[in-house]
Amino acid sequence: MAEEGHFRVVEALQAFYKSPQVNKIVSRTGVAACVPYGRRKLTSEDHMKQLIEGIKKFRTDVFPAHSGLFNRLASGQTPQALFITCADSRIVPDLITQTSPGDLFICRTVGNLVPPYGQGDGGVACAIEYAVTALNVSNVIICGHSDCGAMKALLHPEATENLPQTRSWLRYGEAAREVVRGTGLATSDGEQLSALVEENVVTQLEHLKTHPAVAARLARRNLQLFGLVYSIHTGEITSYDFSLQRFVPVDGKLASATPRPRIVPARKEVA
Ligand SMILES: [Zn+2]
Repeated sequence: MAEEGHFRVVEALQAFYKSPQVNKIVSRTGVAACVPYGRRKLTSEDHMKQLIEGIKKFRTDVFPAHSGLFNRLASGQTPQALFITCADSRIVPDLITQTSPGDLFICRTVGNLVPPYGQGDGGVACAIEYAVTALNVSNVIICGHSDCGAMKALLHPEATENLPQTRSWLRYGEAAREVVRGTGLATSDGEQLSALVEENVVTQLEHLKTHPAVAARLARRNLQLFGLVYSIHTGEITSYDFSLQRFVPVDGKLASATPRPRIVPARKEVA
C-alpha cells in the first residue's frame, strides 16, 4: 500500500533503535529490536524516558525526513483499508503490513471483537460506518493473533471473575468458542486456543456483515473482506479463504474472505 515517498514504520523504529542509548539486537527476521537501558526490567521511569526519547527522535529526525508525506496527510486522509485488530501491545498493524501513516484506518478492540449491528459499543460501529461510508475504503481486514489474552479468557471464564466489563465484552466471541468446543477436534489447551483465534476471526467477519454500511457495499460488490491471523513468535500471517473455508498462508496474494455476492434482482419499473 505504501507509495513512493512514504516511509515505513519499521524504518522509523530502526532509526530510533540506532540511538546510542539503545542496545540493539537484530532478530532473525531482520527487524531491529531493542533492549533499552540494558536487559534489566524497565521501571516506570525508564518507560517514560524511552517515550520522551522517541518523541524527540521523531520530531528531530523522522518527521523532517518525511515532511512531504506529513504535509500531504495534514489536510485529509484517503486510507485504502479499515484494519480491525486486537488492542494487544504486541500487534503493530503498520509494522506487520509494512504500511505507512495514512494507509490504514485502524480500529482496535480487545480480542478484535466486532459487535453485531445494533449491539454493544457504538464506537466500533461508528468506526466501521465512517471508514466504509465516509472514507469509502476498498477493504476491511479483521486480524487476530496468537497468544491472544481475550481468547484465553473466553476458554477460561474464571479468569474474568473480577473483570465484569471484560466478561460482558467477551460475549461477542462466545459463538466462536462454542464452534471450537462443538467440533471436539482441538483437545489440548494450545490447540483450542489456536483454533479459537481463527474461528473468532471468522465469527467477527460474520458480525461485520450485519452492519448496514458493509452489507450495502458487499451487495454492490465494491468492498473486499479479509480475515488474518498473525503469529507473534514466527511473524507468519495466514488469511481466511472463503471458498476453501480455512486459513491459508499468504503467498503472493491475500486469500479473500469476501462472501459470494448474492444476486440482487433489478428493480421493476413501475408504470
Ligand atoms: Zn488479543
